Amino acid sequence: MVFRNFTVKWRPEIITFVFVSLSVLGFATEHTAGVPPQQGFHAADDREARAQVFVKAKLQFWQQRLNLQKWEINVQLVRNTSLKPKTLGNIHWDAETMRATIDVQSSYDYNLPFQQMLDDMEFTVVHELVHLQLSSLPRSEASRSAEEHAVNEITQALLNLAKR
Ligand SMILES: [Zn+2]
Repeated sequence: MVFRNFTVKWRPEIITFVFVSLSVLGFATEHTAGVPPQQGFHAADDREARAQVFVKAKLQFWQQRLNLQKWEINVQLVRNTSLKPKTLGNIHWDAETMRATIDVQSSYDYNLPFQQMLDDMEFTVVHELVHLQLSSLPRSEASRSAEEHAVNEITQALLNLAKR
């Protein structure tokens, strides 16, 4: 699983800017008045749909890079109520059937600007795939936090390499 280690709030000037520009375009309606427009119905649903497409594409890309094509892996966005507290994702796998499902925190529960949110979601996908790659190793309660640390380091290194 991926632990949440930072919280970034929308900066007030960005909220104001978006709200004003939407008002000018005539999109502001009664139910969005007084709340940030990214929480308005259409904007939030659009953000979720785009995030869904994004995580599926990233799964395909990283599954190949990590040579995990033998696995049938799905990724889904889930509300944080179905994740363990303070985590941003998890993976469940079945070594017999070689099927796995990655849960990534839904955009509805993110307070980050769009691109930062996508970067964070990609981190979660890669992190969970690295766990899958290590899944054949013996595990114990004692090795869990050491594994978590190693998985985070490897994930960051992979993402840094991919951005060069
Ligand atoms: Zn983890």
